[in-house]
Amino acid sequence: AKANGKACYQVFEPTMHCHALDSFQLESDLRQALDRNEFVAYYQPIVNLSTGKIASFEALARWLHPEKGIVYPDKFIPLAEDMGLVMAIDLFILRQACQQLHNWQSLGLADQSLTVSVNLSVKHFMSFNLLEQIELILQETGIDGHFLRLEITESDIMQNAEFAGKIIEQLQRRHIQLSIDDFGTGYSSLSYLHRLPIDHLKIDRSFVMRIGKNGKNTEIIRAIIALAKSLGMCTIAEGVETQEQLDQIRDLNCEFGQGYLFSAPVEAEVAKDLLKSLG
Ligand code: C2E
Ligand code: CA
Ligand code: CA
Ligand code: CA
Repeated sequence: AKANGKACYQVFEPTMHCHALDSFQLESDLRQALDRNEFVAYYQPIVNLSTGKIASFEALARWLHPEKGIVYPDKFIPLAEDMGLVMAIDLFILRQACQQLHNWQSLGLADQSLTVSVNLSVKHFMSFNLLEQIELILQETGIDGHFLRLEITESDIMQNAEFAGKIIEQLQRRHIQLSIDDFGTGYSSLSYLHRLPIDHLKIDRSFVMRIGKNGKNTEIIRAIIALAKSLGMCTIAEGVETQEQLDQIRDLNCEFGQGYLFSAPVEAEVAKDLLKSLG
């Protein structure tokens, strides 16, 4: 770009300058955010479509930035991945979610089947002693492994399928459940599916969005559900926004749904009220 006169000229364009400064600022703020306790988990219910009850709460990270207000994960997770901070953030959210579940359990609000689902970015998991860290958090918070689900994207698994397989088997030995996130979107090889002890496939929102509008799309969802069933896995439809979408995924025998139709991700206090009415 330096050889290009035009590009050099653009460096001084005020908006670009602003943008570069902004992401630089965000990066230095992100380094301090963990120490300053600025991350908080929001919770979105995953609903059992045959009983209407909440089966799990997915913990979704929010960064409460002192000046910018709420910063969403699409903005800071990729940055945290580049900076090597993502695993620390994931473990922070994991601890918070386990503490929260323990709190709901002790208030008698959570039945024996309610789990928390936590996103794990495993791009850099080689450099961390992930299992030990997870075990420590479970011990500290008094949560049994079978109350925990970890959500991992298929592209993260495919990046290091062999190592992921080992980790996943060790998770299973601790009765921790595993969900494949954004299923159907990433670069993937179906061959890993039957080899790994996976509990749920989360059908990506992009499929659910187009349901009913496009016959081929509906057939893809039907095929994903059939595949999951034949491998002994359950399916969760992501991004359910309308009653029509709900009716359709139900017709296709999808077991669980998640989306704005049920509830957006909410703070723990609000999630508690959801538990009281839909638990
Ligand atoms: P995801 O794991 O696929 O999470 C679902 C995203 O879809 C969430 O966005 C959620 O708020 C949004 N969503 C839920 N229902 C609906 C709906 O009906 N319509 C629409 N349009 N959107 C819906 P969010 O919270 O902004 O998170 C974005 C992504 O950031 C997540 O996608 C996940 O990949 C990542 N993420 C969030 N929290 C964490 C975390 O603690 N660790 C890691 N590694 N990644 C996280
Ligand atoms: Ca997820
Ligand atoms: Ca997803
Ligand atoms: Ca996603």
